[in-house]
Amino acid sequence: MKQIQIDLSPEEYASEAAVRRAVARALGVAETALDPFRITRRSIDCRRRNVQYHCTVEVGTVSETEMSSITSISGNSSRLSVVIVGAGPAGLFAALRALQLGMKPIIVERGKAVEERKKDIVNLVRTKEVNPDSNWCFGEGGAGTYSDGKLYTRSTKRGDVGEVLRLFVEHGADPDIMVDVHAHIGTDRLPAIIARMRETIISGGGEYHFNTRISDLLVKDGRVRGVVTAAGDEIAADAVILATGHSARDIYELFARRGWLMEEKPFALGVRVEHPQELINEIQYHGKGYSRLLPPATYSLVTQVEGHGVFSFCMCPGGVIVPAATAAGQQVVNGMSNAARNSGFANSGIAVTVSPDDVKGEGWHALLDFQKAVEQRAFEAAGGCIDAPSQRLVDFLRRKPSSRLNKSNYMGHCVAAPLHEVLPEFVVDCLIQGFKDFDRKMRGFITEEASLLAVESRTSSPVRIPRDKESLQHPQLQGLYPCGEGAGYAGGIVSSALDGMRCVEAIPRK
Ligand SMILES: Cc1cc2nc3c(=O)[nH]c(=O)nc-3n(C[C@H](O)[C@H](O)[C@H](O)COP(=O)(O)OP(=O)(O)OC[C@H]3O[C@@H](n4cnc5c(N)ncnc54)[C@H](O)[C@@H]3O)c2cc1C
Repeated sequence: MKQIQIDLSPEEYASEAAVRRAVARALGVAETALDPFRITRRSIDCRRRNVQYHCTVEVGTVSETEMSSITSISGNSSRLSVVIVGAGPAGLFAALRALQLGMKPIIVERGKAVEERKKDIVNLVRTKEVNPDSNWCFGEGGAGTYSDGKLYTRSTKRGDVGEVLRLFVEHGADPDIMVDVHAHIGTDRLPAIIARMRETIISGGGEYHFNTRISDLLVKDGRVRGVVTAAGDEIAADAVILATGHSARDIYELFARRGWLMEEKPFALGVRVEHPQELINEIQYHGKGYSRLLPPATYSLVTQVEGHGVFSFCMCPGGVIVPAATAAGQQVVNGMSNAARNSGFANSGIAVTVSPDDVKGEGWHALLDFQKAVEQRAFEAAGGCIDAPSQRLVDFLRRKPSSRLNKSNYMGHCVAAPLHEVLPEFVVDCLIQGFKDFDRKMRGFITEEASLLAVESRTSSPVRIPRDKESLQHPQLQGLYPCGEGAGYAGGIVSSALDGMRCVEAIPRK
């Protein structure tokens, strides 16, 4: 078996015969003598004017895609038990790994099963009222369910990314996610995958407790022995994985009340920018009318302004902007897309890094209060509801309110608001410089047709729940494994999933 790299034009890539010809040419053999082959990795390179598919091809005895061993695991009720608080990517992959290691996962989730959760999301858009336990961030699958399902990560050293992808495929994701460097699943496909993971976990002997919010930890002799629910019930276990995500502010308040250690950490805050997808395609594909042959184009932008990073985040081609607040009185936006990415709009978070030095006050509470205050200002700017305060990009750059708004694909209404007054001054300055730099990198990014929606404030958590580097346990609480994005150890679906698996692996087996 041999691996080769080939570059193909979009036209070649679309033709089986042309791919065959290119592989034979790269190997220096006649097409008739060509062994079986398959493309195992592909990405689109649009840095140069000639847009190319960059492919890794396996030639010879073509191996089957390796699968995970998870579905063959059977129940065993006498094993080590672990309570997993939160059924987001960190919690679910922790549960799947627990089964692989012969432990019993007990998932405790404040929200509902995906099927029920969907109704609350529809209701949220219709009534503009946020259910604090069931919304775009809370409920089965966590913030990753109604998302774009982008599956790329820079944290390749934190674990086996292939295993995360294999588990997604084994539960119904398109096997192409193993091939695409920038793979995504789509929000229309994710709920069914999450529901199949539930079936695996239950059939392997795991347990689910939905509609069950954790309000305390069961601590005896400095060791965490389980959790206490808001209804006052106790759920005991040998270990607890705390994977509650970055929006579970009640968990940070619990730690503060009980005097358990927490730390502040840098996070990021900004806006969501929205363009017509066709415009992004034209910029990225160099105006070559490739829309028919290539997927909706993406972008990734980063720059530095006066010591702050300004960067694009969670870019959703063909996507929708959603209200992602988790409680009344907040306005937060995020983005998602269906598998086909065919909404006609491109949106992306554009965030500015915020460090403890940028904020008045000391400690993690100052950062959290700062984040909350911006979300509240955005809520008020929209007239006291989860309509999206919005401004045309060109007006924001001139610090001038918009007298009219562009068409938007926000799931709700947009309300004209002066975002240059809603956001903190240093964030506005950095965004203005950042957008100008992005326009130099992507000519046409600044356009009359671009809109900004606020506020993109949940890119990551401003708080870290510390853990020991080796044992992954909280320094004061043996048996507690702070995990995933909410504890400050991950950002995104794949890195959260990897962290979930890592925490389970750190639990000493009896
Ligand atoms: C709209 C949207 C789109 C996104 N798109 C992408 C994307 O395309 N790709 C990507 O990599 N990332 C994306 N993200 C980010 C990604 O979803 C998160 O990084 C990831 O879900 C974090 O995983 P987690 O398991 O650590 O936490 P979460 O997914 O936040 O899960 C935490 C879970 O804990 C539960 N919980 C909270 N408090 C309690 C409590 N007290 N008791 C019991 N349960 C509790 C919550 O209900 C929730 O289900 C998106 C996020 C959003 C909101």
